[in-house]
Amino acid sequence: MVQTLKDNPAVVKPAKRPMELGVRTGWYILKNRLRGRKRFPLVTMLEPLEMCNLACIGCGRIREYRGVLDKMMPVAEAMDAVHKSGAPIVSIAGGEPTIHPHIDEIINTLVAEKYFVYCCTNALLLPRMLDKIPPSKYFCWVIHMDGMEEKHDESVARSGVFNRAVNGIRLAVDKGYRVCTNTTVFRNSDVDDLREMFRYVSDLGVEGSMLSPGYDFEDAPDQDLFLTRQESRKVFRNLLDPTRMEGMRFYNNPLYLNFLRGDREYQCTAWSNPTYTVMGWRKPCYPLADEHTDDVADLYEPKLWEEQYGVGRDPRCSNCMMHCGFESATIFNAIGKPREWVTFIKSGAASRGGISVG
Ligand code: SF4
Ligand code: SF4
Repeated sequence: MVQTLKDNPAVVKPAKRPMELGVRTGWYILKNRLRGRKRFPLVTMLEPLEMCNLACIGCGRIREYRGVLDKMMPVAEAMDAVHKSGAPIVSIAGGEPTIHPHIDEIINTLVAEKYFVYCCTNALLLPRMLDKIPPSKYFCWVIHMDGMEEKHDESVARSGVFNRAVNGIRLAVDKGYRVCTNTTVFRNSDVDDLREMFRYVSDLGVEGSMLSPGYDFEDAPDQDLFLTRQESRKVFRNLLDPTRMEGMRFYNNPLYLNFLRGDREYQCTAWSNPTYTVMGWRKPCYPLADEHTDDVADLYEPKLWEEQYGVGRDPRCSNCMMHCGFESATIFNAIGKPREWVTFIKSGAASRGGISVG
């Protein structure tokens, strides 16, 4: 019999999220559904700049936005976008957010307003940020880790970055910050190396590791890096083999991990993760920007999600299994299905949050 993660929740350490995250997110979803909203934001993806101090081989952003790399989103504009989206969770990415001259003001203002904020970073500038942004249960650093030293440095195309990321994790954990990691899986990822890394960062004290296959951004220089849907399932079936996951701690919920393994099917719900950049809201989603718009409401036109985008509707969606499109799908799909909530709860996900971001 094929084993799923649902059958083996005990082997994976539960993520250590604050209870308030799960409670508030659950209440937010319920409130919106009671108001009759079919589609609404869950996580605002905020990209206050697109400039980076690295040039990773799988990164589309720094190439797609090459003409506006010097553009820094004003604090008021960032806050306005978050308010207009209305989602309780904000995931800050880019580009490298710690380069933004007012990132501390953006994060501290969001935290003061009790948004749950995740800041994705390669950690190169992390030490200098720690005096400016105090630890909070509403704030979590998310450190980019694509493998152990050799594989990570290869992925970010610079040696020494792994060690600086590890130092950043240690320093942040020591100072009392919430810390997660995020990992993109590519065709050249080494499954044994990833297992070692997930155990390593768990031992360093991170809340959990976020995991997603890469999306074949057309601007990324090496198109051979990206997995097809079929290849992704094969890799994740191996990586997420329940008999070999001891000591790992994932932030993603177990239904999404089972989706990655090919045990479940979902249609994309990328409308739940609207992405605001220095050029406006990406339409339709985090991976695709057929246009940019000033009005977040434009992302909720039913035609987009009923006719235009999603698996089977647009060929660019056929290999996409990214968390921004499908992890929220597992949550929305579980509404009204008590057995699925039992899966969340057993794994520690619903009781501690159940949502991953970034
Ligand atoms: S650290 Fe992030 S934003 Fe910077 S190049 Fe790498 S993937 Fe792109
Ligand atoms: S499936 Fe398509 S619409 Fe959904 S997140 Fe992926 S690329 Fe975007």
